Amino acid sequence: MSLQLDHRRRAMLAEMGVHLPEAAVTLTEPASGPSSVDARPAVPDILHPSASRVAAVGGAAGSGRPAGASAPPTTPVPRPIAMQPSGHALGPVADLSWSALQQAVAGCEACTLCQQRRHTVFGTGAPELSPGEAPPVDWMIVGEAPGEHEDLQGEPFVGQAGRLLDNMLKAVGLQRHAEQAPGGRVYITNVLKCRPPGNRNPQPDEVARCEPYLRRQVALLRPRIIVAMGRFAVQSLLRDSVADIESQPLGRLRGQIYAYEGVPVVVTYHPAYLLRNLVDKRKAWADLCLALSTASRPQG
Ligand code: SF4
Repeated sequence: MSLQLDHRRRAMLAEMGVHLPEAAVTLTEPASGPSSVDARPAVPDILHPSASRVAAVGGAAGSGRPAGASAPPTTPVPRPIAMQPSGHALGPVADLSWSALQQAVAGCEACTLCQQRRHTVFGTGAPELSPGEAPPVDWMIVGEAPGEHEDLQGEPFVGQAGRLLDNMLKAVGLQRHAEQAPGGRVYITNVLKCRPPGNRNPQPDEVARCEPYLRRQVALLRPRIIVAMGRFAVQSLLRDSVADIESQPLGRLRGQIYAYEGVPVVVTYHPAYLLRNLVDKRKAWADLCLALSTASRPQG
């Protein structure tokens, strides 16, 4: 499978540090790994210039933690729970509508991250076609947690890492706020909806308490592909499908298709990591191509 890149996309890739020959790009076929991709309706050939759907982004071994951040937790993350420490239930998250889910996150006090946040960061992407209903999307990007800029603006992936993500998305025909783009529609969110103080690593209890929101987002959005960016996103999404996930280096998890709630998942590096590790941008591009080829397959 090949992807013809016009000058604009080549320029986007150049900004990522990926310089490709004039020949068509060969897309990576997913390894025959431990994956189970659920059946979906057939999609048009996303590689055709007029295609309405495409897929994007991928990466591996790095998390989005700032340089010098503490090491990730090694203790097993408890299963997702929807209870506050006091035992007060979050409510039936699994049954919430899109608008009710947004309201629940905005008022959530299920973990201590609520105490210092300026904004919750629910997610952003393709606009809702019907007010209060989940937008139709093809791709879902899942990062780790809001940082300082995200906390200020209430939007995921802003700042320098966000600009790199936007360029990565544009390279495969996606735009974060577009109702329609050559590559399809995209939604961007994080595992945690509130910023950990000082951009420290998420704690297992915080991930466990917040994860039901992400699970419900996936259930309502039903994307064709999820791209997990960075170590904590990968650990959260693949906990049910990869044994001893906390001990697995991100680089070893790349190149295969996993599943989360029946949606194919591709693993890739976090853009913040790529800003510090330029040599891995080529791997991120390969992961994008894997996501692209996966989303383009007939699913159904
Ligand atoms: S991080 Fe998640 S669980 Fe914790 S307060 Fe924010 S929305 Fe609630």
